[in-house]
Amino acid sequence: MCETGPVITSRAARGGGSYPTAEARLRAAGLRVTALRLAILAALEATHSHPDVTWLVEEARRRLGTVSTQAVYDALADLTAAGLVRRIEPAGSPARFEARSGDNHHHVVCRQCGTAADVDCVVGAAPCLEPSTSAGFVIDEAEITFWGLCPTCQRAT
Ligand SMILES: [Zn+2]
Ligand SMILES: [Zn+2]
Repeated sequence: MCETGPVITSRAARGGGSYPTAEARLRAAGLRVTALRLAILAALEATHSHPDVTWLVEEARRRLGTVSTQAVYDALADLTAAGLVRRIEPAGSPARFEARSGDNHHHVVCRQCGTAADVDCVVGAAPCLEPSTSAGFVIDEAEITFWGLCPTCQRAT
């Protein structure tokens, strides 16, 4: 994976060990610690499926009881702006979220069912790809979406 400064990855991606708690990460990002923000971070760290808002609203309600959809949108906006959550928007798909942020990894998305999986950078440091021209920009990140058919959809065809 490419490193772009402070790397914030999920516990699973880091393989366990000493890792700041969700509360500590919220405080370090200057965000107030709320039950909803903690629930969203916990839900995202427990999955690799890059869920959408609908899934996260259900998950927040399962964990906390009554939660408005707008509250989840607001919390996700704050977490994304603080760099604790990454938002990806594959073309034709609703926005998806993940706890693995800040490491410039890429995604492979299934054309048929929309399943998304992580793809680590193959070479060196971000942006890990050389554009044919930089148009005078200083480039520090690349966001690639590979498209194809997931194993389940391959078996179904
Ligand atoms: Zn599929
Ligand atoms: Zn990802």
